[in-house]
This record gives sequence, structure tokens and C-alpha cells, in this order.
Amino acid sequence: MSELVLPKINKETISKKEYIFKNLAKIINPENVLSHADEIKPYETDGLSAYTQTPLAVVMPENTEEVSNILKFCHKENIKVVPRGAGTGLSGGALPLNDAILLSLGKFNKIIEIDFENKCVVTQPGVTNLGITHAVQHKNFYYAPDPSSQIACSIGGNVAENSGGVHSLKYGTTTNNILGIEIVMMDGTICRIGGKTLDQEGYDLMGLICGSEGLLGVITEVTVKILKKPEVVKAALIGFSSIEDAGQCVSEIIAKGIIPAGMEIMDKALTKATNDYSKAGYPIDAEAMMIVELDGTETEVSELIKRVEDIAKKNKCSSIKINK
Ligand SMILES: Cc1cc2nc3c(=O)[nH]c(=O)nc-3n(C[C@H](O)[C@H](O)[C@H](O)COP(=O)(O)OP(=O)(O)OC[C@H]3O[C@@H](n4cnc5c(N)ncnc54)[C@H](O)[C@@H]3O)c2cc1C
Repeated sequence: MSELVLPKINKETISKKEYIFKNLAKIINPENVLSHADEIKPYETDGLSAYTQTPLAVVMPENTEEVSNILKFCHKENIKVVPRGAGTGLSGGALPLNDAILLSLGKFNKIIEIDFENKCVVTQPGVTNLGITHAVQHKNFYYAPDPSSQIACSIGGNVAENSGGVHSLKYGTTTNNILGIEIVMMDGTICRIGGKTLDQEGYDLMGLICGSEGLLGVITEVTVKILKKPEVVKAALIGFSSIEDAGQCVSEIIAKGIIPAGMEIMDKALTKATNDYSKAGYPIDAEAMMIVELDGTETEVSELIKRVEDIAKKNKCSSIKINK
């Protein structure tokens, strides 16, 4: 893997840092401009922690207007800005730069509206992915994309990275589960794209923003779809004596038109590590283990489990266990 080369530092920006701090403190509450070495130390990296660089300053705006004014100022003064959600990204997108302002969305942590009738939630971008499900689960709803970091990662970061998880096989990634956004462009212009309805007219600008890794603007609001929890969820744990048989079984399940909610293969080393850590009860003698999660109505899931069992047997599985 080639080494990541960080952009060259603009010394002119560093030389006018006192002027920059002073002006930022006029735009937002001075308490929300962090510039002391001790204050900015925790922000020196993100999930790609092999790389570190302290930012020029960390700003923590509290509303869209403040974001817009910060970006207007930075645009005018030619200062780089790196947006940051929860900092769990593994590709270094929220990695700070010595000559850049790190714009944290940490104070954008409120859900604005829950609309069960239209099956959507309007939220600020700093709310965690799991926080959305927690807010709607009392009515049996949930937000489908589930990155493994969902307890910590922010929905704004999910949009910027087009994040997905194990259930993306059936329910898609972030781009398939958002309806609208508010975004502040790098020159400070505030734009709204989409809304509560499916399919907007004109160009698919949301498709462009989703996955743009914070390079096109700062997302300040997101409208996400929420789904009714499936009636029944069952997982089949299937052991195989070779990884090739397990792989062939995956191909055949998909080829037969079955779209499981999630499907993963683990090799023997991983199965052992998981068993040792969490006493998961996975088959210890299998060279490969496949987890197939099926969801839907009782009738649908029972039928699909039977079909998956038949395909697994055809592919020489060594064990099948159904978790209810
Ligand atoms: C243990 C672990 C497991 C993970 N599992 C998965 C997984 O299963 N699937 C997956 O897709 N990812 C996974 N990730 C990666 C990461 O969690 C996701 O990419 C997540 O979406 C990042 O969200 P964040 O809030 O932490 O964003 P950050 O890391 O803060 O930022 C990520 C990028 O988004 C930009 N950004 C953040 N907020 C905004 C905003 N409001 N406006 C504009 N740009 C913004 C940043 O500039 C940066 O480029 C995992 C990470 C960890 C540490």
C-alpha cells in the first residue's frame, strides 16, 4: 500500500493564526473556538490513527448560520476547512491539517423531527447512527444502514462516506436511505437538496453529495427514511469443510433470487477468535462458517430458511443451526 502524502502546509496561513483565531471568535461563541495545544490534541487524528497532525484550530458551531459564516470567512481568507463528525472514519477524511480549521459537528446533536406518518426523521448531522434507531424503536421503526461503528459514528459522517453495514445487502447503503439534506457549500452558500419525499426532480445532487467525503460542503441537516422492523428475523449458522464450498453457497443463494438481510463468511481463525471472546457457540471444527440472516413475515422467513438449507446441503455443508 502506498504511503499517504499529506498536503504541503501553507506557511502564510500559519503566520496569520492570531488574526484567524480573533475573527473566528467574532463569528461564533469564543468558547467554541479551540486553539490551545491541550484543547486541540484530542483532534489530531481520526480512525486512521497511523497519521496525526494538529489542526490550526477546532471550531464548534452551533447552527447553520454559524457554519455559513465560518466558511465565508475561510473562503475569503483562503483557509482550508476539514469537517469532522465523530472521527471514526478509517480513510483519514477527518484527519486535520496544520494549516486547516477543523470544523466539528459535535454540537449538532439533536433530532429535529420524527415523522412516523411519512416514515422519516429530520436530524442534525452530529446525531449518532444508532441514536436515530433509539429515537424511533418504541414504535417498532429503525434506521437500516448499520456500520459496525454505529454506536459512535455520526449520520453526517455516514452521508459523507456513504456508509453501509451488514444489512446493506438487502437495504442498501446511506445513499438509498436518505431523502434530503441541508448543506453549506465551501463559499458559505446554504443549499437544501431533496426533502421528505422520494425522488426529486432535476439532477441527482444528493447522489453527488453522498460519498463526497466532506469535500463539497458541510452537511448541517439530514432527512433519513425509517423502516418498520421486520415481523420475524432468523439467522442460519452454517458450517463448511472448505471456504470454497461456503463461497459457492453464497453465489447460489443470490443466484436463486434470495436476498438475505445479511450474509457473511468467517474463516476458522475468526470463528475461534469469536468463540474465545464471546462464547458464541460457533461450530469449532468447520473450516468456514456462514451466517445468513433472513427477515420478513413468518411464512416468508420459514420458506426462505428451507430453501437456504437445501442450497447449503447441496454445497456439502457440515452443520446447520437456526438461531431464533
Ligand atoms: C470499529 C469501526 C467499524 C467501522 N465499520 C464500518 C462499517 O461497517 N461500514 C462503514 O461504511 N464504515 C465503517 N467504519 C468507518 C466509519 O465509522 C464510517 O465511515 C462513518 O460513516 C464515519 O462517520 P463519522 O461521523 O465518524 O465521520 P468522520 O470520521 O468524522 O468523517 C468522515 C468523513 O466525513 C466528513 N464529514 C463528517 N461529517 C460531515 C458533515 N457533517 N458534513 C460534511 N462532511 C462530513 C469528514 O470530513 C470525513 O471526510 C468503521 C469505523 C470503525 C472505527
